[in-house]
Parts: sequence; C-alpha cells; structure tokens
Amino acid sequence: MIRVMVCGAYGKMGREVLRGVHRDEQLSVVGAVDIKSDFADVGELIGAGKIGVIVGNDLQTVISETKPQVMVDFTAPEAVMPNIRIAIKNGVCPVIGTTGLSTTDLDEVRQLCNRHKVNAIIAPNFSVGAILMMQLAVEAAKYFPHVEIIEMHHDQKLDAPSGTALRTAELIAEKRGNLKQGHPAEVEKLPGARGAEYAGIRLHSVRLPGYVAHQEVIFGGIGQTLTLRHDSISRESFIPGVVLACKRVLTVDGLVHGLENILA
Ligand code: NAP
Repeated sequence: MIRVMVCGAYGKMGREVLRGVHRDEQLSVVGAVDIKSDFADVGELIGAGKIGVIVGNDLQTVISETKPQVMVDFTAPEAVMPNIRIAIKNGVCPVIGTTGLSTTDLDEVRQLCNRHKVNAIIAPNFSVGAILMMQLAVEAAKYFPHVEIIEMHHDQKLDAPSGTALRTAELIAEKRGNLKQGHPAEVEKLPGARGAEYAGIRLHSVRLPGYVAHQEVIFGGIGQTLTLRHDSISRESFIPGVVLACKRVLTVDGLVHGLENILA
C-alpha cells in the first residue's frame, strides 16, 4: 500500500481526492491537513464513517506523525510552494494539483527534487479529456495558427487565467512561436477587453457560479473556425489522474510536469 496524505482536505478537491484515495486498493490515506482544521476524522469528512485518520492543521507535524510517501496538494496559490518545500525536505513525493505555479516555482521544485532525490508530479489539469484537448489543440495549431482560448470556472477560483489555459497557450506557442493576432491598430476601449496575452494568444477568463471547469480553444482560418471544447462537469473527472499520479510518482525521475507525461 502506498501511504498518501492530502493537503487542503476540507476543500472541494481535497474531499474528492480523499474519497478517491480511500477507495483505491493500492493507496492508503494516512494523513490530511487543512489550515482551518477542527480535527475531524477523514472518514466522516467523506461520508465513509470513522477511519481513525484525523485532519491536522500543521503539515510538518502530520508528516512526522504519519510518515506518508506521497503528499497530494489541492490548496491555494500562496500555500502550495511552502507545502512542496516541507514535503520534499522530508522525503515525501508531492503530487500537485494546485494551480498558479510560475516557471520560477517549477525550476525551484526541479532543483529541490534533484537535491533531495525525491520525485514530484505537477499537473495543471488531472482530467484525461483536458489533456486530449491540449494535444488536439497543438495539432490544430499547425494548420490554424490564429487561436484564442476561453476558460470558464466557478467564481471561487483564485487564479486567472487557469493553469490549463496557460498550459494550452504554452504548448501551442512551443510549436507555433509568437504571432501578432488581430488588427495591428486595434484599440481596447475598456482595458482587458481583448483578454490576457501569451505569445500573441489571447486568453479570456469567465468566473460564474454554476461552472466547474471548462475550456474552449477557438481556431480561426479563412472562411472557417474550429472549436475544441472540454467540460469537467464534476470534480470526479480529476480523480483517476490524481490516483494514477500517486502510484507513478514513486518511480518517475525527478519532476514531471503535466499528466500527459505519465499516461501510458
Ligand atoms: P478550495 O475549495 O478553496 O480548497 C482549498 C482548501 O485548501 C481550503 O479548504 C483551504 O482552506 C485549504 N488551504 C489553504 N491553504 C492551506 C494550507 N497552507 N494548508 C492546508 N490547507 C490549506 O479550492 P479547490 O476548488 O479545491 O481548488 C484547490 C486548488 O486546486 C486550486 O488551485 C484549483 O485551481 C486547483 N485545481 C486543480 C485541478 C487540477 O486538475 N490540477 C482541478 C481542480 C482544481 P481555506 O478555505 O480556509 O483557505
């Protein structure tokens, strides 16, 4: 059994991850952390009855007491790097779903992994459908270099654009390079009307109650458009990817960025 702990246990994703890990025959929930912990039993949190694992409020204490091999983190952009540093220094492999990490952060995690001989998996999106959408978008960009991205999320999301939207733009830009899109003389009458920009690709973020996680990648060509769309209609969509990462993280080599790199 692989010993797993979850950071952000009381969160929307944290609870789903705890359910998924608890159900899996090769994984065992040994610990959980949330900054607002009232020391609930993890089993009661996920509707499975008491399992004798208590949600703590201090990561270092929980790691010392429960000796996990893997730390799954779905917390917040400002919390994730301190959590990763503590995990790696304690020899615990991070599986990171929290978004908002910069390239500087990724470089630091890579160096920490190498220095402490610990592996990590960081995935801006753990759903297989979203990975396929990104791969298809890269393929389509070969033929349709003019592209814009619209992502739609629930209104409690803290970072914008989403990690998936940014990753999609990065992957397209790696193939396509920088391209000035739209009219050279276009004017934004309201600042932000044309969205954010990455290598000439415009990214638009919608935040509304009712959404979970959705993205459209729209390509424009002469006399035609092509739209790729992915919808996570429930947070369960991310769990098979997280469970797979918990199993693979012990044997990958250093830092792996992106679920696509561990799918068979
Ligand atoms: P959420 O419901 O706000 O859950 C985050 C939880 O983490 C909250 O209970 C929060 O407590 C807690 N927390 C904050 N700082 C902490 C710390 N230092 N230690 C322990 N717990 C801490 O958010 P969510 O919807 O679950 O999303 C969490 C993250 O996952 C976001 O970055 C989101 O973008 C990302 N996400 C990624 C994927 C993916 O596939 N990679 C999918 C969905 C979501 P408070 O409420 O008291 O702050």
